[in-house]
Amino acid sequence: MIDVDGQSRGHDSHAGLRTQFTGQLLSPGDAGYDDVRKVWNGMHDRRPALIARCLTAEDVSAAVRYAGTAGLPVTVRGGGHNVAGTAVADGALMIDLSLMRAVSVDLAAEVAEAEGGCLLADVDAATTPHGLACPAGVVSHTGLAGLALGGGYGWLARKWGLTCDHILAAEVVLADGSIVQATPDEHADLLWGLRGGGGNFGIVTRFRLRLRQVGSVHHQVGVYPLDEAARALAEYRVFAENQHPDMHAVGCMKIAGRQDWIPRSLWGQPALFLTAVWLGAPEQGPEAATGLFGKAVPAGSLSRQLTYAELQALGDHGEPHGNRYFTKSCYLGDISPEAAAAFLTSARDVRSPLSSIDFEYLRGEITGVPDAESAFPRRDAPYIYTASAQWTDPAQDAENIAWTRRSVEQLEPWHYGGAYVNYVQDEPAAKVREVYREDRYRNLMALKSQYDPANVLRSNQNIVPARAE
Ligand SMILES: Cc1cc2nc3c(=O)[nH]c(=O)nc-3n(C[C@H](O)[C@H](O)[C@H](O)COP(=O)(O)OP(=O)(O)OC[C@H]3O[C@@H](n4cnc5c(N)ncnc54)[C@H](O)[C@@H]3O)c2cc1C
Repeated sequence: MIDVDGQSRGHDSHAGLRTQFTGQLLSPGDAGYDDVRKVWNGMHDRRPALIARCLTAEDVSAAVRYAGTAGLPVTVRGGGHNVAGTAVADGALMIDLSLMRAVSVDLAAEVAEAEGGCLLADVDAATTPHGLACPAGVVSHTGLAGLALGGGYGWLARKWGLTCDHILAAEVVLADGSIVQATPDEHADLLWGLRGGGGNFGIVTRFRLRLRQVGSVHHQVGVYPLDEAARALAEYRVFAENQHPDMHAVGCMKIAGRQDWIPRSLWGQPALFLTAVWLGAPEQGPEAATGLFGKAVPAGSLSRQLTYAELQALGDHGEPHGNRYFTKSCYLGDISPEAAAAFLTSARDVRSPLSSIDFEYLRGEITGVPDAESAFPRRDAPYIYTASAQWTDPAQDAENIAWTRRSVEQLEPWHYGGAYVNYVQDEPAAKVREVYREDRYRNLMALKSQYDPANVLRSNQNIVPARAE
């Protein structure tokens, strides 16, 4: 290990970096190496040649330059949540931003500055006490950077747009080590690419984020036995496609837990859960949700007011670090009765009690943001469907992966095209092209050629520079 104070223990094969680096460098065998190389998905047990735990943009710059001279491939770790495990690779230099998690808030401007290693919880902790939030994902231990750069769906997206729509500016370390500001006036093309183009164009060390005013929300959940779920799904479809932008109704199929509000007969059984979150005045929430739960009357229900911070933390326990995960996702044009029947087939066929199927109607302000303002593709996708297998025993890898694939493949007649880039995993390179569609992908290739012509940043859902194609 090479300490921050420059003390080296054992063989120092990375002295070239140590002289310029203020953070911590970890090599195989160093104390802490095995903890820091871990990512959220326990499937990816990889051993980088070196981990550079950066404290500043200058550290990131030194690390990326050093990787070039040492001939080491580069990976970038934000929150370590990407299901494909792209933050870590065997034999690479991992640029770890997890020590860079400071957030400051300008209350008057309703803007936050968040460092590139922040988790969503770090941003929420700084903003929600002031009644402010940046729209982001639904599990608060997810990394801000990976999520925002790929898009960022969450509870506030239908009302205000995606996380990437809230990136006002960014400090970025480019693949050649230079540090630039991406703003509407300076490197505006880079800012466009950071809004949905993934981690392809540079390493973001600081985001400037627009915040929105949030207060308490109304949160209501209904549970349905699968035998009665077809009707509930039909009502969900009508309700969701006509819901107010303050309403966000989502569905999930998973094994029901032992909770007081769930009928005992459903404990341990696969069930459908429909959730309505109302962002308007909370006292109006129950009335606003009647259009769903009044028609699809649940077997058990939960109805309450939550602070926005409580809402954000609701998903935190269901997807813990270290379990094995495999995710497939697609956009759907519709949930016809036949598509709904296919959902239920997957739910009945599930191989692990920890797995889930999630779906939601999107649109709202996601489509309100002009398409040209960001690299994010397919804003008009009506539904997103995600099958997430979670298990613990490596011997069960094959059956869980097969279930996930089957779940999405059997919905092929309703596929809308493309996929959410942050859920693309172990697919051929052509999939990323399909995600962005041909015209946008070509624009992104040109941008990649400009900012990372040697494809240094390629451990990601990769956009290939034009010349390397
Ligand atoms: C439990 C869970 C819940 C999720 N919920 C949602 C959700 O509600 N909404 C949603 O939209 N997505 C969601 N996601 C998907 C999530 O957006 C992606 O997994 C995302 O990649 C996570 O970002 P990260 O920083 O944690 O990833 P990492 O694994 O750290 O990084 C993934 C990639 O992002 C890039 N990257 C990371 N940091 C930087 C940086 N600072 N600069 C440049 N590139 C960087 C790199 O290419 C890296 O390979 C969820 C994922 C999980 C595991």
